[in-house]
Amino acid sequence: RKLIGLASVSEIEAFFAGEDNKVEYDSRKMCKYSEHHTIAVFASEGLAPVWQLIDALRGDYNILLPATLNDLKQQLESAEQTPDLVLIHATDDWLNNLLYCQRLIQNMKNTFIPIALIGAENDDQQELQAYAHGASDYLIKDRAAGITRARISMMLELKRSRDFLERSARIDGLTGVNNRREFEKTLEMEWRRSARTRQPLSLIMLDVDHFKAFNDRYGHLAGDSCLRRIAGAMQTTVNRSHDAVCRYGGEEFVILLPETDKKGAERVAQTIRQQIMLLGITHDRSSTGLVVTASQGVATLIPSSCNSPNELVESADQALYKAKSTQRNCVVAA
Ligand code: GH3
Ligand code: MG
Ligand code: MG
Repeated sequence: RKLIGLASVSEIEAFFAGEDNKVEYDSRKMCKYSEHHTIAVFASEGLAPVWQLIDALRGDYNILLPATLNDLKQQLESAEQTPDLVLIHATDDWLNNLLYCQRLIQNMKNTFIPIALIGAENDDQQELQAYAHGASDYLIKDRAAGITRARISMMLELKRSRDFLERSARIDGLTGVNNRREFEKTLEMEWRRSARTRQPLSLIMLDVDHFKAFNDRYGHLAGDSCLRRIAGAMQTTVNRSHDAVCRYGGEEFVILLPETDKKGAERVAQTIRQQIMLLGITHDRSSTGLVVTASQGVATLIPSSCNSPNELVESADQALYKAKSTQRNCVVAA
C-alpha cells in the first residue's frame, strides 16, 4: 500500500468521496510510514551490560528503561506508554530471571505482552525453564545486532496478529462496539457481580425504527454508516467505565448498565433517543418524522438466585416490543 500525504481537510474529504482528481499529490509529500513500537528494557544490575543492545534498537523503537520491577509493572498497566515487548537482562541469578518472567506474566490482565530474556550463551535446560515460565524467546547478547533485531521484529509481528485476533473476537467489525459474544460474557459477569453487591443491573435494548425502509431508500452503504453513527452516539452518551454498549444483531443494540436503577437507565435511554435524533440522519420514509429514530426497552433487576440473566434480556425485549407497537421513537420501561 502507498501512503499519501493529504495536506488539508478538503483533500481528505475529496479522497474519501473518490474525487481523486481534486487531490494534488505531491510525491515529495509522500509519507514514509513506520509504526514505532515501544520496547521496555529491564536490567536489574544496571544498564552497562545492555547498553550496546539499546544502542542498536533506539533508532527503530521507543525504548523505556524502568529502574525497578515495580516501575516496569506500572508501565505494563499504564494506558499511554504500554510497551509492546519487554526485554529482561538475564543475570547469573537464574532463579531470579525466572521469577521476573513469572511475576510479569501473572501481572498481565487483558493484553498479552511478550517477554524475552537476553543474556549470555546458556544451556538448553535453562532456556527451556525460561519458556516454561512464560518467556517468548531467549536472545543471546553477543550475536549480530541484525539477528537480535529480526527476532524482536518477529515477536512484535506475533503480538500484532494476536492483538488483532483478540480484538476481532470481541468487537463488532462494522460499528466498533462490543459484539454479541462479548455481550453474553459481560452479562454473565455483571450478573454475578451485582448479585454479590446486591445492586440493580439495568439493560437497554434499542432497535432502529423503519430501518429496512431506510436501506431501501438510501442503500446499504448509507445504512451501514447510519449504524456506525448510532453506535457512536450510544458510546459517547454512556460514561461509566462498566457501562457496555454492544451490537446485539442487525440494527439492534443493547447497553448493560451495572449499578443503575430503573430511573437512571430510563434517563440514559432518553438521552440516547435525543442524541440519535440530533444526528439528523435524513429518513423521509419514517413514520416518526424526517430523521432516523430508535425505540428502546428498559429492564432492571436485582440479580439473585430467584432470577436469571435471560429474564433481564426477555424483559427488555418485551418492553422494546411495547415501544414498537405504540409510537416508536420512545422509551418503555418494564
Ligand atoms: P421497525 O421499526 O419495526 O424496527 O422496522 P425495521 O424496518 O427497522 O425492522 P426490520 O426487522 O423489518 O428490518 C431490519 C432491517 O435492518 C433489515 C435490514 O435491511 C437492516 N439491517 C440489518 N443489519 C444491517 C446491517 O448490518 N447493515 C445494513 N445496512 N442494514 C442492516
Ligand atoms: Mg430489528
Ligand atoms: Mg428496526
